[in-house]
Amino acid sequence: ASKSRADDQPETAGVPVSAPGAPPARLVEDLDAALDQQQFWLVYQPIVDLASEQRLGVEALIRWMHPARGLLNPADFIGPAEVSGQILPIGEWALRSACDATARLAPDTYTSVNISGRQLGLRGLAAMVADALDASGLPAERLVLEVTETAIVADLDNAVARLGELKELGVRIALDDFGTGYSPLTHVRSLPVDILKIDRTFVRNVEHSEEDRAIVRGVIEIANRLDLRTVAEGIETPDQLEALRELGCESGQGYLWTWPVALDEALHAAR
Ligand code: C2E
Ligand code: MG
Ligand code: MG
Ligand code: MG
Repeated sequence: ASKSRADDQPETAGVPVSAPGAPPARLVEDLDAALDQQQFWLVYQPIVDLASEQRLGVEALIRWMHPARGLLNPADFIGPAEVSGQILPIGEWALRSACDATARLAPDTYTSVNISGRQLGLRGLAAMVADALDASGLPAERLVLEVTETAIVADLDNAVARLGELKELGVRIALDDFGTGYSPLTHVRSLPVDILKIDRTFVRNVEHSEEDRAIVRGVIEIANRLDLRTVAEGIETPDQLEALRELGCESGQGYLWTWPVALDEALHAAR
């Protein structure tokens, strides 16, 4: 490998950059190979009812075992795959795999799958999701698709159309990382969503910070008014759990129960 390193591409040592802003050619090649050679897999994190701590669902999260670099997290490759467009086949693989695995192994649970903004741009998205449900036998009511507000706002009219088609299939839509976007929280009123996922940044200090509690309280109030479900992300401690219960948050996920693990482990994880 070459020893040059572009200053603006800190994660791409030794790799020639093909165009400004484009992922390095080497990573693009590696992502193609990863799909061909089945180097991706999914881990799952339970989503629990905060009152009873019973499992309601699982979120599927992608991992990549790179042959040279070892285990890579989404932060290492999802962004570049969005730029290159490779998130389209990767995202389809993740959706189909999650539907297949959970239809077979997790009949009492819903399955939540992250969808990239690039996928939302596909006119055929709903048809692909319908086919994944058909092929796996997973009932639409047991699938949740997670999209970020940023992805929706990037092309609002298109996103609202695509999400509407998905909802017609009977799947539910969760707004991921809610509260981290720049649009006002009440903006959610005009979006076809069912679930608000309260971002981890508001959970981290929820038991100490009156400001963070005010934000969480606001999100829960909006959710209640619009008849949406709430899920808090990144619950790590019993004190955070208690604070979120007191604020009226319905459900959550986090290391308090388990980090993302193999599906069978996620289904048996309990505190
Ligand atoms: P996300 O959808 O918001 O997923 C939650 C992230 O928080 C996951 O990181 C999870 O491992 C982490 N997490 C869960 N509980 C805790 C906790 O208690 N403490 C801390 N510190 N972290 C916790 P992960 O797996 O690294 O995924 C990062 C992001 O990558 C996801 O954020 C999602 O936006 C994206 N992603 C993951 N899988 C896929 C996929 O299949 N397709 C697409 N398009 N994006 C994906
Ligand atoms: Mg998510
Ligand atoms: Mg999230
Ligand atoms: Mg998040």
